[in-house]
Amino acid sequence: MLSIINTIALEGTKGIIIEVQVDISSGIPRWDMVGMLGTSIKEARERISIAIKNSGIKLVGKKISVNLAPAEIRKEGSSYDLAIAVGLLANLNIIKKENVNSSVFIGEISYSGQINPVRGILPMCLSAQEHGFKRVYISTQNLDEAKLINNIEIVSVDSIKDLILKINSNMPVEKNISKLNINDINYDIDFSDIYGQEKAKRALEIAAAGKHHCLLTGEPGVGKTMLAKRLITIFPKLNYEEIIEITKINSIIGNLKENKIKINRPFIEINPNITMSSFIGGGRNPRPGAISIANLGVLFMDEFAEFDRQKIEMLRKILDDKEIKIDRTERSIVYPCDFVLIAAMNPCPCGYFGSLNKKCICSENKIKRYRSKISGPIMDRIDIQFNVSKINHIEISKNSRKETSEEIRKRVEMAWMIQKLRFEKDGIKSNSEIKANQLQKYCVLTKEANNLLEKLYKKMDFSMRTYNKILRIGRTIADLDKKEILDEACIAEAVQYKVNNNLYG
Ligand SMILES: [Zn+2]
Repeated sequence: MLSIINTIALEGTKGIIIEVQVDISSGIPRWDMVGMLGTSIKEARERISIAIKNSGIKLVGKKISVNLAPAEIRKEGSSYDLAIAVGLLANLNIIKKENVNSSVFIGEISYSGQINPVRGILPMCLSAQEHGFKRVYISTQNLDEAKLINNIEIVSVDSIKDLILKINSNMPVEKNISKLNINDINYDIDFSDIYGQEKAKRALEIAAAGKHHCLLTGEPGVGKTMLAKRLITIFPKLNYEEIIEITKINSIIGNLKENKIKINRPFIEINPNITMSSFIGGGRNPRPGAISIANLGVLFMDEFAEFDRQKIEMLRKILDDKEIKIDRTERSIVYPCDFVLIAAMNPCPCGYFGSLNKKCICSENKIKRYRSKISGPIMDRIDIQFNVSKINHIEISKNSRKETSEEIRKRVEMAWMIQKLRFEKDGIKSNSEIKANQLQKYCVLTKEANNLLEKLYKKMDFSMRTYNKILRIGRTIADLDKKEILDEACIAEAVQYKVNNNLYG
């Protein structure tokens, strides 16, 4: 007799329906499992038979065959346990077969018969809903996470005994009615924590408003990290789709503990020692890397000049594509990685070039070599550069009122709205994505602004790329001021954040 039970595999953040076909017949007792299975699944046999025995059910003297289809998808992890067990129990007529149609089963089973939580519940439940399933059975410990989804019935189970009871009684399940309070932003840091640094704060406001990538330079201990960390606090509030996107990734990496569902934008800090797979994702049972965990938030790369070439080269593609394709033997998987990059570095190897507090001991050549580690193509993708300097005594003692993140966020939100309306038909979302051939259309200058830009172009001898970046940043400054046309003030300010390309390789 054959029973077919549904479960879900994850490829990137996408769920794929897996059919677990279980057949039990009399014959020489044995248990076969097929369907491109990883080692962890092969161990399911052991886990499930012991668990079933410990739940008081006899499973002796049977020939069991299990097939996980489709065969071309590699199955890893222990999340298929529950579906396999249900297939067996249905076959043995311990549970009512008619009650498991249009249901999906996801969970790991322990030797004692307990149902354990698994990673990736949120994207799996979403996928079950998209495929038209009515009900998902999961571990009680995954319940909070699954509750984020509406329009599908979630049944949580603790053990095999609990599972049998709930399936057979076909208890009516309450539709999930939990609503997220997405108006809550709980950052425990704020822009008003920072004394002085007005120019740096303004540069970050522009970065957030136009989603421009930035490079911060400055001597050690000057507060680069402190500033970068606060960038997410001025990003617009998340909408429902964004919350689900962020939560999906956290679900896959197993970062959602009970009652601790994350709904803030991510700030991910990495340093040059990070491994390639932690950086971009991957592994046998694939996980998203730092670039995808930073999706819809900020990726902070400290000591930017020390990252190896391979990672920097990779970064170029990541910034362009906003998603990462990880090649695997069978099929490649895709994770999103749409973040604002904040790169930070010292101005020179010793860290004190241009400092008023300490003398730099580096030779000119050494400084050049250090900066040339950052390749030109990467610098092309970074719109804003600014130097963070040590705040002086006067700035600390100044008791002037400091703007809060919420006040700045209101301006950023308005700028996002303006961009959304402007780019609706062009397939781009922010000013940082305006292509060279679209600049004339979107960045109209007043006569005075045009004259000023021409003058600066000749005087400062900057490249065409720099010229284009100034227009993009100018566009964002104009949006923050609700100006349709870029005036002199927009250009004069934008030019201050231009990247000094001559310094980098
Ligand atoms: Zn130095």
